[in-house]
Amino acid sequence: VIVVLDAASLLSGRLNSIAGMDAYITPDVASELEKGRPGVQLQNLLSAGLKVRSPTCLDEARRLAASTGDLPFLSIPDLSVISLAIEMGGTVITDDFRVQNVLKAAGLPFQPAGEIGDRTIGSVWKWIYRCRGCGRYYDEERRDCPICGSDLRPVRSRG
Ligand SMILES: [Zn+2]
Repeated sequence: VIVVLDAASLLSGRLNSIAGMDAYITPDVASELEKGRPGVQLQNLLSAGLKVRSPTCLDEARRLAASTGDLPFLSIPDLSVISLAIEMGGTVITDDFRVQNVLKAAGLPFQPAGEIGDRTIGSVWKWIYRCRGCGRYYDEERRDCPICGSDLRPVRSRG
């Protein structure tokens, strides 16, 4: 199984092992890891078989992120993760809702870091949106609740 990991999933401490995975990060994610915890964890992961690979092009990821409205909220490391996943066809390990949203639009599989080991990679989650005010649920992401005007937050439901 090819997996592409983002920095947050590795720094969360919830991903205990990359054993059995063909695991990749991008150079941008490697830099984030070095900033997050001075190199030590990155060295351990590299010794455990984690590989660093650069995506050849970020344009497709940018285009997809623009189409879902997520582009202004994504960092260059985020875009590099999405790009590498597009190029390698791997499953992305990320807890970032914006990244997951773009991957969903691209038809690419993703998995929250906390669920590795609990479930098979590739199980499908559906995102729905719940109003913080009145508690109504919506299938589509909206800026605010059409009934009461409060913010919506994404919640996961089993597809
Ligand atoms: Zn509401």
